[in-house]
Amino acid sequence: MNAAIKLGCIADDFTGATDLANNLVRAGMRVVQTIGVPQGPLDVEADAVVVALKSRTIPVADAVAQSLHALEWLKAQGAQQIYFKYCSTFDSTPQGNIGPVTDALMDALGTDFTIATPAFPDNKRTVFKGYLFAGDVLLNESGMQNHPLTPMTDPNLVRVLQAQTRRKVGLIDYATVAQGAAAIRVRIDALKAEGVGMAIVDAVSNEDLLRLGPALADLPLVTAGSGVAIALPANFGLQPTSTAAALPAPAGLQAVVSGSCSVATNRQVMHFIETGRPALAIDPLRIAAGVDVRAEALAWAKDKLAQGPVLIYSTAEPAAVKAIQGQLGVDRAGEMVEHTIAGIARGLVELGVRQLVVAGGETSGACVQALEIEQMRIGGQIDPGVPWCHAASPAAKDGDGLHITLKSGNFGTVDFFEKAFAQLKDAAA
Ligand code: ADP
Repeated sequence: MNAAIKLGCIADDFTGATDLANNLVRAGMRVVQTIGVPQGPLDVEADAVVVALKSRTIPVADAVAQSLHALEWLKAQGAQQIYFKYCSTFDSTPQGNIGPVTDALMDALGTDFTIATPAFPDNKRTVFKGYLFAGDVLLNESGMQNHPLTPMTDPNLVRVLQAQTRRKVGLIDYATVAQGAAAIRVRIDALKAEGVGMAIVDAVSNEDLLRLGPALADLPLVTAGSGVAIALPANFGLQPTSTAAALPAPAGLQAVVSGSCSVATNRQVMHFIETGRPALAIDPLRIAAGVDVRAEALAWAKDKLAQGPVLIYSTAEPAAVKAIQGQLGVDRAGEMVEHTIAGIARGLVELGVRQLVVAGGETSGACVQALEIEQMRIGGQIDPGVPWCHAASPAAKDGDGLHITLKSGNFGTVDFFEKAFAQLKDAAA
C-alpha cells in the first residue's frame, strides 16, 4: 500500500495536465500524470496525481460526469485537496465547462467557496481587477476572440464565470492580494458572508501567487490555470528539490518523431538536420496512396539507431501543409499522419528506443495511445512547460518502461531535440 497522495488534480486537457504537473514538480512534489481515470489504485509513490481528461469542449454533462469520476478516484487515493486545472486563457463559453464542473466538484466536496484564477505570469497571463490579460493586451484582443471552439469576447472573468454558474461570483482584487495571505483570508471570509461562492483572484506576478498560496491551504477545492501550482506544495510542507524530478536512469536507443508543423518545430527539425544527424521526412501523399510508410521508416531507422538519435518527421512549412490539406482534406490529412507517426513511435520502441521525443500536441496524444501508456512519472523540465517523463508501455518488452517527452508545437528552443537527450544524460550523471 502506497502512502496517500496530498494533492489530487483534474486537468481538462492533456498538455495542460503536463504543464500543471511540471509546475508542481518544480515546487517540490513527486507527480504522476494519468491518461484518463485509472481503473485500479495508484501503484507508485507520489505527492500529487494529475488526471488528464479531454473535457474542455465536450458537452457539459459529459465534462461534469468525467470530472466527478476523477474526483472519486483521487479521493480514494487520499487526496487532501483537489485542484481543477483549466487553460490560462480561460477557454470556455457561457454554457461552460469551467463553471458547471466547478459547481459539481463543490457540491461533491460539500464546500461553499473556491477561487478561480487562470493567472500564469511565467506565460504572460495576468489578472488585474478581474480582467485577464494575455501578454500586453486584454484577452478579447489577443486572438482568443476568434478561437474556433471557445471564443473569448469578454475579458472580465467575474462576468464570464457568472454566466456559467448559479453561485455568486466575486473578486479578490489586487489591493488585497498585495497585502498578503492574512488579508486574503479576511477577504475570503467577507465574500463568504456576502454569499459569494467563487472568487476570481488578481495576480500579476509569481510573488502574488506565492502570497495567495497560504490563504488556500484550507480550501477543499482550488480552481486555476497552472500558475497557482507553484504555491501549493509549500502548504504541505514541501520545498523545491531535485529529488521530486528524479526518474530512473536513461537507457536504450534515442529517437524523435514529429508531426507538428508549428513555427518552433519547423526550426527544431531544421536544426537537427543541419547538425548532420539522420532524419527522414514522411510524405502524407504516399500514405494516402497506400504505401506502407511506417514499415519503410522503421527499416530506415533500424541500422542508424545504434549510432545516436534519429528523427522521423512530417513537419512541413505552412504552404506545403495547405497543399496537402487541399488534396486530402484537413481532418483526413491530420488523422493519417498522426496514425502513421504513432505507429512509427510504437515500432521504434519495439526496436529498443527508450528515450523518445514527440513533437506536436495531437501527435503526442496519438503516440501515447499507440504506446498504451496509462500513466507517466513527471521529471525535470527541458524547456518551460516540457518535462521528461517516464512511463511503462507494453511496447517496451523488457518491462523497464521508457523516457518520453511530449512537446506541444510552439514550445522549446531551436536545439530542443539535442538538448532533451543531453539533459537526460546529465540528470543521470
Ligand atoms: P502542434 O502542437 O504543433 O499543433 P499537432 O500534432 O497538435 O501539432 O498538430 C499537427 C497536425 O498536423 C496533426 O494532426 C498532424 O497529423 C498534422 N500534420 C502533420 N504533418 C502534416 C503535413 N505534412 N501535412 C498535413 N498535415 C500534417
